Amino acid sequence: MQSLTTKYDILEKYFGYASFREGQELLIDAILSGQDVLGIMPTGAGKSICYQVPALMLSGITVVVSPLISLMKDQVSALNQAGIHAAYINSSLTEGQISKAMQYASEGRYKIVYVAPERLETQEFAVFAKRADISMVAVDEAHCISQWGQDFRPSYLKIVQFIKMLPKRPVISAFTATATNVVKEDIQCVLGLLEPKVLVTGFNRENLYFAVETTKKKDAYLLDYVTKHSHDSGIIYCATRKNVDAVYEKLSAEGIPVTRYHAGLGNEERQKNQEDFIYDRSSVMAATNAFGMGIDKSNVRYVIHYNMPQSMENYYQEAGRAGRDGETSECILLYSAQDVVINRFLLDNKEKNPDFSPEEIRATRERDDERLQAMIQYCTTKNCLREYILHYFGEQGSRECGNCSNCQKEFEEINVTTEAKKIIECVWELRQRYGMNVIAGTLRGDNRAKLREYHVSDYSSYGVLKELAEPAIKEIMGQMTAEGLLVRTKDKYALVKVTEKGKALLKGEGRVILKKAKEDVYEASGSAKQRKSDVLNSRGLALFERLRELRTGIAREEHIPPYLVFSDKTLVDMCIKLPFTKEEMLDVSGVGENKCNKYGQRFASEIADFEGGKKEKLYFGEIEEVLAGRDGALKGKSSGRQSDKRDFFLTAEQAGKFPYAEKYLVTEIAEQMNKLRNTDMTKKISGAEIFRYIMAEGLASQTFYGRIPRKEVTEKGAQAGLFIGTRISQKGTEYPDIYYDEQAQMMIVRHYQNDCNDFLGGVVKGDE
Ligand code: ADP
Ligand code: ZN
Repeated sequence: MQSLTTKYDILEKYFGYASFREGQELLIDAILSGQDVLGIMPTGAGKSICYQVPALMLSGITVVVSPLISLMKDQVSALNQAGIHAAYINSSLTEGQISKAMQYASEGRYKIVYVAPERLETQEFAVFAKRADISMVAVDEAHCISQWGQDFRPSYLKIVQFIKMLPKRPVISAFTATATNVVKEDIQCVLGLLEPKVLVTGFNRENLYFAVETTKKKDAYLLDYVTKHSHDSGIIYCATRKNVDAVYEKLSAEGIPVTRYHAGLGNEERQKNQEDFIYDRSSVMAATNAFGMGIDKSNVRYVIHYNMPQSMENYYQEAGRAGRDGETSECILLYSAQDVVINRFLLDNKEKNPDFSPEEIRATRERDDERLQAMIQYCTTKNCLREYILHYFGEQGSRECGNCSNCQKEFEEINVTTEAKKIIECVWELRQRYGMNVIAGTLRGDNRAKLREYHVSDYSSYGVLKELAEPAIKEIMGQMTAEGLLVRTKDKYALVKVTEKGKALLKGEGRVILKKAKEDVYEASGSAKQRKSDVLNSRGLALFERLRELRTGIAREEHIPPYLVFSDKTLVDMCIKLPFTKEEMLDVSGVGENKCNKYGQRFASEIADFEGGKKEKLYFGEIEEVLAGRDGALKGKSSGRQSDKRDFFLTAEQAGKFPYAEKYLVTEIAEQMNKLRNTDMTKKISGAEIFRYIMAEGLASQTFYGRIPRKEVTEKGAQAGLFIGTRISQKGTEYPDIYYDEQAQMMIVRHYQNDCNDFLGGVVKGDE
């Protein structure tokens, strides 16, 4: 008999959530109607609720097959915390404990039983399963069943035999975060799902900010970031144990509470370090990808990848460990070309599955290469990163999310078609027998020994791009490769060849556009985004701290991690709603009946004590706004935040304060004007934007941007006060740039001055 309680009651009562997330309801409804399901959702999207809620509504037991002991432990403690009777059966228990657990399960004391796949074939479990009333078998991490998945587990194949042996076929639900088509088909096929409801959803994690930082100075970046986020908990993923140790030592030396995790450490040390991180004793975890499976630490505020991972699947799973509580969090990938080399090496040396035929091994390697290629593309794309991710996993996104490093960076589009044609001619002339270095060297007209040996100076292409720096030429070639005009052979020589599309370009078909980041527009990470606790005023934050302390105390008493008591998000909600009574407490997001009974009183007293019995508002703005801003509306927050603002302008009064000087660069003018603007109302202006205006006025022109832009002043520009001066780069080389004299500065300031201040209301008038 199905119970009369609705899925909404259960979600509210046990989990304390007011509504389902996208897709959860669909899958739950399918299960309840007896249909098999396959749910493909990224880590943190909320897969567990999809089988836990129906498990409580179906008449019999739900058996959850899960690959990892730590995962089971965590899930089971969370369920028991919520007041749901659940148990796990795996090799971490003694024989006695296992018998007992199975006896309780047969007596119907547990609604949900987690088992490792190996357990399914044991005699004892089979006897139990045949007698028990099993309503559903839920297969977690279902991709483990596929030989094409990244972590194939032969024992997963046992699930099928297990199900066949049962007197009545239960509903089968399968869940995974891996979405490639092969894996998807494998799961359906091997598990024998009957006309399943297949749903790909939840890949868009709106609270996560994505960034790729291309840098060779990873350590400096890391140290700076971690220091600036010292109150936050974060994970740093590295490709190798050696890197983990190096990062660990570097951060330790700076006094940062960091711990580490990799397969080279002893079991005990690993366990201890993991707990230090989970219990918030160490705020930073440096780890290889061995760390994290099944760790539901909900307040991880950032995940930094020190190295590029091997696939988007790996990346998204690891990055997805940030912000599981729905709070704003950051996922940053530090990329350098060296990462490609490391990954190729790791693939070359990857252990081959002994069960595979040579054909299978070859196919696997090919798939690995394709995955790596897609990963490299993520690191180098200039388009929206979120869109890239969603597209990769088969979900639809918008073209620009406004909340990733590429959307926040402003790019200059430079037409490099002429240069691209010269490159193709050169490759052609050199008969497609050389790699990137020789080609770039030839075009630049370099006089290296190697080049002399090849007699490249005899070719007509020699020196035709001598005004460009080598990296600039390589950058254009990279863009041409990405667009399919050039290809590089896959052997170790990586010879450059021209494609049909490349030949067509020579005939005048198509063009090549290079996107380059504009200077100084990118707002430092963190500053542009909002944390849920940011809605609290200073007293609100003080209460938040007190509730956190209370939470830590309770966690210590009960020997459980703090997030199992309440998440940060729940504490913030308490600071907003200020619950004094039980009803009010149950209204807080994340407070179900069980937790309310267990902890509600203590938190309510703490709050009443803090507030002295009155309810004084502890947040900024109006409650509807604050609450609306909390759940889904973050999308509006991060992308809308900027577009809500008006384009840059100065009021007459602000413009009057401009500190004119003998000469400024365009970036300096932007900087001075930004200092004067009304930051709440107007967007920032960039040097590049001003320069566009200058060009539109016909005062200057630019022919090409390599590493260094080549800007020229027109006659009209010279009259307006623009002149070329010498700048010195960080490396000490001199290069020309345009300066603006006082007259020119005035012209620019005037241009951005907005005299029509109607929308400013009284601000300006009041000054009169
Ligand atoms: P997954 O198994 O997909 O990695 P989980 O099931 O562990 O993700 O869920 C991630 C987090 O999201 C958990 O903290 C969970 O309690 C929370 N969560 C799941 N569903 C909801 C919901 N409908 N509303 C609010 N929070 C939810
Ligand atoms: Zn984006």
